[in-house]
Parts: sequence; structure tokens; C-alpha cells
Amino acid sequence: MSPAFENLSPDELAAEHARLQQAYADLQATGLTLDLTRGKPAPAQLDLSNALLSLPGDGDFRDGTGTDVRNYGGLQGLPELRAIFGELLSIDPANLWAAGNASLEIMHDLVAFALLLGTNDSERPWRDEPAVKFLCPVPGYDRHFAIAEAYGIEMIPVTLHADGPDLDEVRAAVADPAVKGMWCVPTYANPTGAVYSEEVTRALLALETAAPDFRIVWDNAYAVHPLAEQCAPALPILELAAEEGHPNRVWTVASTSKITFAGAGVAFLGSSAENLAWYGNLYGKRSIGPDKVNQLRHLRFFGDAAGVRAHMEKHRQILAPKFDAVLEILDARLGGTGAATWTRPEGGYFISLDVVPGTARRVVELAKAAGIALTAAGATFPGGVDPRDENIRLAPSFPSADDVRTSMDGVATCVLLAALEARLAG
Ligand code: PMP
Repeated sequence: MSPAFENLSPDELAAEHARLQQAYADLQATGLTLDLTRGKPAPAQLDLSNALLSLPGDGDFRDGTGTDVRNYGGLQGLPELRAIFGELLSIDPANLWAAGNASLEIMHDLVAFALLLGTNDSERPWRDEPAVKFLCPVPGYDRHFAIAEAYGIEMIPVTLHADGPDLDEVRAAVADPAVKGMWCVPTYANPTGAVYSEEVTRALLALETAAPDFRIVWDNAYAVHPLAEQCAPALPILELAAEEGHPNRVWTVASTSKITFAGAGVAFLGSSAENLAWYGNLYGKRSIGPDKVNQLRHLRFFGDAAGVRAHMEKHRQILAPKFDAVLEILDARLGGTGAATWTRPEGGYFISLDVVPGTARRVVELAKAAGIALTAAGATFPGGVDPRDENIRLAPSFPSADDVRTSMDGVATCVLLAALEARLAG
């Protein structure tokens, strides 16, 4: 382990700098090509679902209601699959639709429809408002921010704590009628692993907002993705919203992208009956029905909610050792140095690493020059700009456990070197 830099004399700092420069030169000389950038499932995880490739199988094309899944129709998706995910997400299946393969598409459409035509609670299309703003808990998911950016929605960062967004910041922001929405990843958030508490959740649902059509995009992408033995329970978000007096406030989405195949799963939208009627009217212009063959294949594969949980346990067996490897190396190399802090997520796909302010971009640059690709510094903030230049998202799912170890050891060297450079410079 490196010493805490603030305890070192100038001579000791110079010696440590020389030692780290040598360690970095050695790292570069090993000629690595490693990638910790995106939270993709590893091939071994995709293999867990290979049975899907031969389901539903020759002659199996009707669901339990007798619907021929090969044909058009069934905009809401297969009832039996909605029942399974309704149970997992604590949503009444009547309020949960099964759609195409990507929840990101649903989120995009919700925002685009609201901009073009307004929501069912809007006075006018959002595009006719003088400004449209979304609250963005940070650090957060870059593709949420990319949707907002693409449509000119102004993003307001709010601090994300371990139990959800900072409520004082949120309360102050929603006094502005231009604030129409908020991105939330309530379970094992990307990238910090935060899990919203019921208290914070209820407060978000109860908020008095200046905009009558304020919407929370409740992106439960990691609802059934624990790394710990116990999974955080899915709060019955639609029931809570109704209890708190704002039944139409929530658009919730989820998908099987990190359960079965990232590119060929099933996505879900959960919302109030009024919201679904609004969405369905527009979605029904865009499609004559989702891919029900894929939905049937998923239904056959899982059987029931317990089948999904058992399947997620297999993912956990593959993923948890990689996360443990990251944490072991961070603890061993950076613990007590003051050069970084990091999250210890109990689920999801990411670890959030905060390095010495002002050095995140330098760390990513040093890592890149040593053959280790990290998510761009700033990616976890709106517009790609981290005002403190300190956050780095680590995504250990795709590489092998050995490669995760090698990469993280290299990253630790880069973090220390950048910290020491900053110390010597300032
Ligand atoms: N939401 C979050 C928070 C994610 O991390 C991801 C995947 N990285 C997605 C949504 C994408 O989901 P989908 O594949 O269903 O579009």
C-alpha cells in the first residue's frame, strides 16, 4: 500500500513519485489491452440463457390465453410474462406492459411523446414551454442524459446519496415550473449502487411540484440484480405514488437486458391506467404489437418469478467474484492513501470511484496510455462534465476475473500517480 501523501516530507514525496513513475512505466511495458468501459454481460452470463435460442420451439406459438404469438396485436404484451415481472417489480400486471427489447426505447419515446404532444396531465406540449428541465441525480447514467441532451432538455444535477437523491436540492428545484421530470435508478443505481429508501421514495412521490405534469422516470434496470445474497425489495412504486397523492407521477421501466440477452430481451413499462392509455394511444401508432414470440420464449424459459430469481443467482455467482476483485485491489492499493474513495455496491453493474478532485481525466488518460480503457471521465454527469473532475465509473462485468484484477491494479497505479502529480503541482 502507498502511504498517505499528506504525511510525507518533500523528499519522501519525490521518492514516492519516482517509485510510481517506475511502476507506471512497468505497467505500460506489459502492453495490456483491457476494457472496463461499459456494463455489458460477459459471454459466460449470456451462455446462461442459451436455451432461449431454441425456444419456444417448433409448434409452440400460443400463450395461456390462446393468443397466436406469431400474429400482429397484443399491444400490452403477454399477460403471463407481465404477471411474472409484476411480481418481481411489485406492480399489478394490469399496470405493466411487456414491450420490445430495450427499456431505453421506452424512455426515449415517453420523453419524445411528451415533448411533441404533452403528457395526459400537460397544459401544452413540452416543446411549447419556454424551457424544459429534468433533475439528474449524479453521478448517473449517461444514456439518460443523452436523451435529454438530444432534445434540448436542460439538466439539473442533484446530489445522489446512498439512499436516494438529496431531498432539499430536489425540493428547491421543483419550485420551477420548467422542471418536468427526473431520472431515477432506484435499485443498485448506475454507477454508485445506491438503493432508494422507502422514506426518500415517498418524499419524491409526495413532492409539491410547480409543474402539474412532473414525471419521475423510475428506471428499475437492476431490480433483480443483487451481488449480495439478499436482493433489495422492489418498492410497490405505483401504489406508493397513489398513496402519496400523485398516481400519474411515475413512469417505471425495466428489462431483461441484464437477465437474458442484452440485445434480445424484453422491456417493461409500468404506470397508472391513465398514463398507459396516453402512452398506448401513441405507441399504437408506432407499432401493431411487440415481438410476442420473444416474450413467449422468455415465459417458457423462466416459468415463474422464482425461475427469474434462480437465474439471477447464477449471474451473481459469475459477477460477485469480479466485484470482489475490484474491491480487494482498491482496498489493498488505495485504502488509507487519501487518493480515492469508492462505493461497495450490493447489486447492479458498477462501482463508482472518486479520485482526488481534478484528476479523474488524468487517471483515465494515464490508464488509456497503459492499454486500460475506462469510461470517459465526466460520463456520469450531464453534458459529460464532472464539475469536480473526480468521478470514474468502473464496469467489471465483461472482462474475466483475471483481467479485472490486472486492470484494477493498473488503475490503482494511475490513481496514485495522478494524485501525487496533483499534490506536487499544487
Ligand atoms: N437503464 C440503466 C440504468 C442501465 O444501466 C441500462 C443499461 N446499461 C439501461 C437502462 C438499458 O436498458 P435496456 O437494455 O433495457 O435499454
